[in-house]
Amino acid sequence: MFSRGLVTAAMTAALLPAFPAHATLPAPPARAALHGGAAATVDCAKVKCLALTFDDGPGAATGTLLTTLRKSGVKATFFLMGKHVEERPALVKRMAAEGHEIGNHTWSHPSLPTLFDEEITTELKATQDAVAQVTGRAPRLFRPPYGQTDDRVAALAGDEGMAQVLWTGTTLDWKLRDEKKIRAVVLKLARRDGVILMHDVVPQTVRVMPALVKELKKRGYHLVTVSALLQGRRLAPGETYP
Ligand SMILES: [Zn+2]
Repeated sequence: MFSRGLVTAAMTAALLPAFPAHATLPAPPARAALHGGAAATVDCAKVKCLALTFDDGPGAATGTLLTTLRKSGVKATFFLMGKHVEERPALVKRMAAEGHEIGNHTWSHPSLPTLFDEEITTELKATQDAVAQVTGRAPRLFRPPYGQTDDRVAALAGDEGMAQVLWTGTTLDWKLRDEKKIRAVVLKLARRDGVILMHDVVPQTVRVMPALVKELKKRGYHLVTVSALLQGRRLAPGETYP
């Protein structure tokens, strides 16, 4: 499959008369890295986009998922738990290197509205630091565990420089634990500019992903990061989306 970026690069190469063909080969990855990968090659104002998001990782099967996504040219968004970042830093590094978006899902997955301000800030900050230590960049997106949040939680996340990302469809994959059912639910929930919540710590989700991605693409979806859905608009700290 050709992305628009590759086509553009090929067209650019065709316009350069004197250069041997091999001289232009490194151009596509360099361009993708420079402009932030999928965001540069997919315009969600013009095409049907969908954001796949994976919470609670990285887990034991996350490497397999990353390989599936890389092979199919798909970018996703991962909302990571700080303590798992600490356990599996290499996977987090790989996520960032392969153009996926990384968000904060707290250190230990508590229900945030039940905590004191300082406890919430500690959960968020420790995770920001863990991700920044591995990737060189603290997340700008945050997803509250269980989707449990309120104005106070959103404001405290804003203080750490993050917008809050919820979802348009949740698969309950952790409860279904069945590849066929997970596939059916995602296909039912999929819609233009949707944000689908799944978990890369659920092995059945990771196993069904190659077939699921293939079917979503067949239905015309471009699978992008949450930020790519926003078409260049940056969420303000404390803002909630969608
Ligand atoms: Zn979670």
